[in-house]
Amino acid sequence: MAGHEDLLDMEVRYLKGVGPRRAQLLSRLGVKKVRDLLYLAPRRYLDRRFITPIKDLRPGTEATVSGEIVTKGVKVLRDGRKAFVLILRDGTDWLELIWLNLPQLDKFFKVGDYLVASGKVRFYRGTFQIFHPEYEILDGSGELETAGGIIPLYPSTEGLKPRFIRRLVSNVLAQVGERIPESLPGYLREKRKLMKRGEAIYSLHFPGTFDEAELARKTLAYEELFYFFLHLGLRQVERSGQGIPLVKKDTIVDRFVAGLGFEFTQAQKRVIGEILEDIKGSKPMHRLLQGDVGSGKTVVALYAMLVAVENGHQAAMMAPTEILAEQHFIVLSYYLLPLGVRVALLTGGMRKKEREKTLEAIRRGDVDIVVGTHALIQEDVEFKSLALAVVDEQHRFGVLQRADLLRKGVGEKTPHFLVMTATPIPRTLALTLYGDLDLSVLDEKPPGRGEIVTRWVRENKRESVYQWLFEKVKKGQQAYVVAPLVEKSEKLEVEAAVELHKKLLAVKPEGIEIGLIHGRMKKEERQSVMELFRKGEYHILVATTVIEVGIDVKRATIMVIEHAERFGLAQLHQLRGRIGRGSQKSYCVLITPYRVSEEGRARLSVLVRTTDGFEIAEEDLKIRGPGELAGTKQHGLPNFRIADIIRDHEIIRIAREDSRILLEEDPYLVKPENRVIREFLQEKRKKEAFYVG
Ligand code: ADP
Ligand code: MG
Repeated sequence: MAGHEDLLDMEVRYLKGVGPRRAQLLSRLGVKKVRDLLYLAPRRYLDRRFITPIKDLRPGTEATVSGEIVTKGVKVLRDGRKAFVLILRDGTDWLELIWLNLPQLDKFFKVGDYLVASGKVRFYRGTFQIFHPEYEILDGSGELETAGGIIPLYPSTEGLKPRFIRRLVSNVLAQVGERIPESLPGYLREKRKLMKRGEAIYSLHFPGTFDEAELARKTLAYEELFYFFLHLGLRQVERSGQGIPLVKKDTIVDRFVAGLGFEFTQAQKRVIGEILEDIKGSKPMHRLLQGDVGSGKTVVALYAMLVAVENGHQAAMMAPTEILAEQHFIVLSYYLLPLGVRVALLTGGMRKKEREKTLEAIRRGDVDIVVGTHALIQEDVEFKSLALAVVDEQHRFGVLQRADLLRKGVGEKTPHFLVMTATPIPRTLALTLYGDLDLSVLDEKPPGRGEIVTRWVRENKRESVYQWLFEKVKKGQQAYVVAPLVEKSEKLEVEAAVELHKKLLAVKPEGIEIGLIHGRMKKEERQSVMELFRKGEYHILVATTVIEVGIDVKRATIMVIEHAERFGLAQLHQLRGRIGRGSQKSYCVLITPYRVSEEGRARLSVLVRTTDGFEIAEEDLKIRGPGELAGTKQHGLPNFRIADIIRDHEIIRIAREDSRILLEEDPYLVKPENRVIREFLQEKRKKEAFYVG
């Protein structure tokens, strides 16, 4: 018989009743192995105590009822609409659950299914009714009798019933029981009043009380965060190499500055000073440069990279998308080729031969500065002498990827390190999570930037928006039109952009050229589209979110965002950062349907009100409120399974503190009481990605 350790590492596909199709669906919820299933946190719990007997219902109130489906069917209403109706009986009385215009629901329910449903109760012609209830199909009434009557409600995904997940989790738990190995030593559990791991996992899914559920969640969030900080801390210990001292000379850098055609802002000068101070020492620089969109981070990085080149070393700059890497490459080449500095581009989309040639040049030192995407951190990329690594738009990368770039140092040498981000992570959060970085801030925009006016309109105005847009374009302005975001499906997103492009082509006046750009285009095609837009041969560019970061075309002054309510606030801010780069007044138009959720409305009004990235970031966290994880990815924050970086700041604090103390007292984890930690960490490093970055 397989041991429970093997069971935890088994893919869920092989569990009884799962199979390839359901495994595929489960992987959408982040569940690949059995151990992932154990950490699949319920989104909330259903409490039997809140169930009202049907006979006691009162019209006009919100209530939760439970019972068995006795009949169901599709009805045609008097006005011709179709409704799906089912009748639920609980032994005290019966009621109707009604869904308008959703006849397809019929196939989801079976007579005899046991259901819990909630919603607003109505009383019509002697019958209780709930329209469009929230519901949950249970495994018979027995499920309500178990474990204090608290039922976990899992995130569901199309084709996968929560009931199925409950059954699966419960079966697995029955098999591994309380033999789940411990992850934290007793002294930490006692200090922080946490549960044992096995108990916590069990109680996360099937708690006896709500307090127990909360403590279970706290325990597992602590575990997750503690190991996250420990991992980062250990990386730092492992990384204690020597930096290469870089001192500014005046061979290349001054000629570069003279050729810029503008003066550095005070903020840029200050940050350059901070960087020069750091890199002249033999301790590697480790600095985060925050600057709102358009604050001029690229030239600052370029300045630092040139100092590395002046000293006879190499520098690398990593960007999150191919488009952005290509753009950096163009900008850098423009400034640097006249200075005799050799620049290369390295991306995933390169042909093999071309790539090998570039790799060889990097290895031999025939290239001074390399710009690239993730391709830069592949195994086979070797530098002759990398002295400075820059990561642009770091919020798009994980912490681990940035660490990988650092390992490109040669021998004992660790490159100096500069990460840049336009996403203003609220400072407190940044310091908690990235406390290992020093912080520089570009808090001033270069002069001569036009104002950006932002308007939010409903879709009934769409036509007039585009008429206005065409007028503006005829007068020589350029515009981006951003297609709706389709979360998690690049394919659908691309389709939406293609569709939008077609529609606009059909209605555009003579003489206006409209280009299209998206992530599924070939590199050459994309480059030529960008080039045509930059040259002004395309007046309008229809785009997906691929243009979200970094793109810099000064003449583009208008941005229309379709279905703006679907985007996160940070993302909208980034997108809007593509305009307002020249001296002309710019316009951002957000188009939404008539009905937008309350949260969506709050987001859009913030955007209309301010262009200050820091203010937007703070508002963003407020609006999302506690417990909501969506969108943290956009801050470049790790995507934890249990921990909620917004709600759990206290757990973050203690987990961080405990890991710091541990590393001070026992950096190599050799003390007997820390054996649990050493073993668990080893397992974790071996068996699973730490978190998706
Ligand atoms: P971001 O911080 O968003 O990455 P960029 O580095 O792309 O900003 O800079 C935006 C634009 O501003 C670029 O076209 C750049 O050449 C220009 N720029 C940068 N610094 C200055 C300055 N001090 N004065 C005028 N223009 C500047
Ligand atoms: Mg930039």
